[in-house]
Amino acid sequence: MAVSDTANDIETVVIGAGVVGLAIAAELAEAGHAVLVVERHGTFGTETSSRNSEVIHAGIYYPPGSLRAKLCVEGKERLYTFAEKYNVPVHRCGKLLVATAESEIAQLEAIEAKAAANGVSDLKRLTLDEVRGLEPHVSCVAATLSPSTGIIDGHAFMAALEARLLNAGGEIAYHSQVVGVSAEPDGGFRLEISSAGDVSELICARLINAAGLGASIIGRMLEYRKAGYAVPGLFPAKGHYFSLSAKAPFKHLIYPMPSPDALGVHVTLDMSGAARFGPDVYWQNDLDYGFVAAGARRETFAKEIKRYWPSLPEAALMPAYTGIRPKIYSQGSPPADFEIHAAAQHGVPDFVGLYGIESPGLTSSLAIAVHVARLLET
Ligand SMILES: Cc1cc2nc3c(=O)[nH]c(=O)nc-3n(C[C@H](O)[C@H](O)[C@H](O)COP(=O)(O)OP(=O)(O)OC[C@H]3O[C@@H](n4cnc5c(N)ncnc54)[C@H](O)[C@@H]3O)c2cc1C
Repeated sequence: MAVSDTANDIETVVIGAGVVGLAIAAELAEAGHAVLVVERHGTFGTETSSRNSEVIHAGIYYPPGSLRAKLCVEGKERLYTFAEKYNVPVHRCGKLLVATAESEIAQLEAIEAKAAANGVSDLKRLTLDEVRGLEPHVSCVAATLSPSTGIIDGHAFMAALEARLLNAGGEIAYHSQVVGVSAEPDGGFRLEISSAGDVSELICARLINAAGLGASIIGRMLEYRKAGYAVPGLFPAKGHYFSLSAKAPFKHLIYPMPSPDALGVHVTLDMSGAARFGPDVYWQNDLDYGFVAAGARRETFAKEIKRYWPSLPEAALMPAYTGIRPKIYSQGSPPADFEIHAAAQHGVPDFVGLYGIESPGLTSSLAIAVHVARLLET
C-alpha cells in the first residue's frame, strides 16, 4: 500500500516492519483492529531482524522478574507453537552451555539457578562422558544441556507474520519513513511520512513505535505529559559473525560463558546445518554495518572458539555479516531490560514505545505482541 497525499484516518499505526512490529500488527489485526504498518525499507525485516543468530532462546540468562525473562520464556512456547501451525522451519536442536575452565563453573551454576528462577526447569548438567557422546569435538570442564533452545528460519517466520497481518485485513506501507510525529489536541497522532521524495500526513488513533534502531529518534519527536519522562537513548553495539566454509561437526548450539553485554562467541547452526560463530561486541557511535578489522578479528574469534573446539580449522573462518544491537545502556553500565512504555510511564494515552529490544527479541516477539495489546487496552 502507498501512503496517499491526503490525510487518512487509520485506527492503529505500527512503525517498523521488523519481527516485533509485524508480530504486534498481526496480533492487533487478528483482534479486529484496523492496522497499518509503516516501514522505511522496501520489504520487512531488513535491519536487526535479519542480522541475528536466529536462535530460539530458552530464557535462562535474564534477571528473574525482568521483561526479558518473562517474555522470552512465554515467547519461546508461542514461537514453537506458531512455527508448527504455520509451517515455519524450526529445529529444537538444544544447546550446550560449556565452562572451559574451573573458574567458569560458578558462572554455569549461576545460569542454572537463574534458569530455575525463570521457570525453565529442563536444564540438565551433563557428565563429561555425556558431553563426548553428544558432541565429541567439544572440550570443556563442565557442561549443561538446554533442550528447549532451538533455531528458526527468521525470514520464513516474518513472512508468516506478514501473511497473518494481510489476511486479517491489515496493510503495510513500504518505502515510507516516519519523519514527524505529534499528538493531536483531542487524542490521536499526526504522522509525517516521507515516501519517494514526497511528505504526506496520516492521522491515527493509536500508535506503536517498534522502529528498533530508529525507535529513540521517533520517541523523541513526541511531547510527553509526565514530568521527567525521558525516552531511552540508543547505544549501538555491533556484533560480527564468521561462517565456516568447512562442514561443522556439531549437532547442538555451543555457548561459552556469557559476558555482561553479550552471550560470548558461540556456535549456531542455520536450518541447513551450516555453522556460524559470533556475535562479538563492538560498541560504536553510528549504525555502520561494516565488518571491522576482519583479519585481527578472525584471530580473536579463533582464540575464543578454540577454548571449546580445539581442532577448529582456522582458515575456514570467513567474515560473514554483522548486526547492531539496539542497546539502551552505555558500555560498562549494567545491562538494561526491554523498555516497553505506555501511558503509565509517559502519560500519553494510546501510544506504546519499545526501546532496547535486543536479544531475545526474536524469541520474545509473539509474547511482546500480546503484552503490547494488553497495554493498549488498559
Ligand atoms: C547480533 C544480534 C544477534 C541476535 N540474536 C538473536 C537470537 O539469536 N535470538 C533472539 O531471540 N534475538 C536475537 N537478537 C535480537 C533480535 O534480532 C531483535 O530483538 C529483533 O530483531 C528486533 O526486532 P524489531 O522489530 O524490534 O527491530 P528491527 O528488526 O530493527 O525492525 C525495526 C524496523 O523499523 C524500521 N524503521 C526504523 N525507523 C523507521 C522510520 N523512521 N520510519 C519507518 N520505519 C522505520 C526499520 O527499517 C526496521 O525495519 C539478536 C540481535 C542482534 C543484533
